[in-house]
Amino acid sequence: MDPHSGPPPPTLVLGAGLSGLMAAWHLHHRGFAIEVWEGSPAVGGWAQTLPWPGPQGEPGFLERGPQSLRVAQDAPLERLLRNLELDLRPSPSSPRGPRWLGRAGARHPSPATLRGLARAPGLTFLQKLRLLGEPFASAASHPDESLQAFFARRLGGAFAREWLPALVAGILAAPPERIGLSALPRLSYLERCGGLLLGSLRSGPERTRLPAGGVGALARALALALDKAPDTLHLNRAARALEPLPGGRWRVHGEGLAREADQVILALPSAAAAELLRPVAPEASELLDAIPRLDLRVWHSRHRPVPGWERGFGLLVHPPEGRGLLGAVSFAADDPRGVPGLMQVRTYLGGAYPIDAALETWPGVAAELRRWLPELPEAVQVREESCPGAFPLLEPGHGTRAARILQILPPGLHWLGADRFGPGIPDLAEGTETWARGAAI
Ligand SMILES: Cc1cc2nc3c(=O)[nH]c(=O)nc-3n(C[C@H](O)[C@H](O)[C@H](O)COP(=O)(O)OP(=O)(O)OC[C@H]3O[C@@H](n4cnc5c(N)ncnc54)[C@H](O)[C@@H]3O)c2cc1C
Repeated sequence: MDPHSGPPPPTLVLGAGLSGLMAAWHLHHRGFAIEVWEGSPAVGGWAQTLPWPGPQGEPGFLERGPQSLRVAQDAPLERLLRNLELDLRPSPSSPRGPRWLGRAGARHPSPATLRGLARAPGLTFLQKLRLLGEPFASAASHPDESLQAFFARRLGGAFAREWLPALVAGILAAPPERIGLSALPRLSYLERCGGLLLGSLRSGPERTRLPAGGVGALARALALALDKAPDTLHLNRAARALEPLPGGRWRVHGEGLAREADQVILALPSAAAAELLRPVAPEASELLDAIPRLDLRVWHSRHRPVPGWERGFGLLVHPPEGRGLLGAVSFAADDPRGVPGLMQVRTYLGGAYPIDAALETWPGVAAELRRWLPELPEAVQVREESCPGAFPLLEPGHGTRAARILQILPPGLHWLGADRFGPGIPDLAEGTETWARGAAI
């Protein structure tokens, strides 16, 4: 379609999480008339910075989802952030402070650092030496391979058995044998660039960045850019049904209204997309419904600061020992989202791991946390913000399933989001940018 040949037909984007907003933003910049429907009262989906006043009512915030953004140079996310002219700063969250692996009953430096690599428990000297052979491992990744198989191939079986579960649980909340490579597309990319080590060196460092105003500011900036055109963004407007029209067009029904569109973009969690597709594309609906969603339980707590943790900390716990506690991460003391004088921690539990009954309430969680972090003082403030269905479990084999969904979607319907591109925001940025560039819409 030539974007300059008069008013283009409307494209309806369903969902104003980061996927929907990014897709709408790209299409808007290519001259398409866009309308976005968001079912909830706010934009951003999981990427929202929520108010959480301090103990005296001071301004303070918590992140509903990501606490910061990992940005690689010249990657789609970096381009997008630059385009939006967001005020970005180096993130004061965990990577600059100590990072630990909770394993064998004690806390050890994270094996993601060189010092940690030498000192972390569970691997013999020879098994640690095996890690250094990573650049020479066979490059044979397939999107349907499990993370367990991928890392065993590249870093050895001992690494995959002893350390990987904690590292993966802390990012994707599930065991590595249950997750397919399609959940972390960067791994396949690095392998194509020569392996984890050489690929990272060649593709340049990833920096942890934070927009002023929190991660939610990214969603707000996208929404603001879209909202400059009248009648573009509609909150509290959930799509309830899709009706096919002659000529491959669609009518989308909301509560008491309907809108016709040439193209409909489903930027929704899999269950919501499956619901809409059930009457019009039953096989695609069934495949989407088969993607398991993981519930994450998240506790936010504020504490008096611990000396040495001023730049924040990160803890990952070996899952069988954590009894459901997957890890904790804190803001730095000077993080503008926190309350001056207090350290802010987020503790996450659950995902694909059963939660021990003792960890159902904050006192149990706090006791378990102190097993790994004995220095942690009593919390001054606590708030639970659960994340039901937050993470799609993209199992080994998901690549084939995703390809089939794309193949059978009726013309005029598009499917985007964490279930297709992986839950990482850099992957969503790359996926939506590539899709928008190539989309025959
Ligand atoms: C606790 C937590 C920590 C995370 N940490 C990180 C991290 O550190 N780094 C990282 O990269 N990623 C992280 N993520 C993952 C990342 O936040 C998500 O993968 C990403 O935000 C998903 O965006 P999305 O737009 O695909 O989906 P969503 O955010 O789920 O957005 C979907 C939107 O669709 C709307 N919707 C649903 N049904 C309808 C309907 N019928 N009609 C209209 N609208 C509808 C919803 O209200 C929602 O706004 C984290 C997630 C969580 C929960």
